[in-house]
Amino acid sequence: MVKFPEAEVRKFRNVFVCRKCKTKIKSPNMKIIQGKVSCRRCGSKMFKAVRKK
Ligand SMILES: [Zn+2]
Repeated sequence: MVKFPEAEVRKFRNVFVCRKCKTKIKSPNMKIIQGKVSCRRCGSKMFKAVRKK
C-alpha cells in the first residue's frame, strides 16, 4: 500500500493526550516515542495520540 503524506500527518498530528490527566501536549511524535516528553501537569510519560475517528 502506498502511504500518503497527508494521511501520515492526520494520523500523527504531533498532538498527544496525557493518559492520566488528559492534558493535551503538542510535541513531535518521535520525542513521545522516545519518552522525552513528560506531562506539564502530572509528569506522566504516558501519552496517546489524538485522532479523529
Ligand atoms: Zn498529565
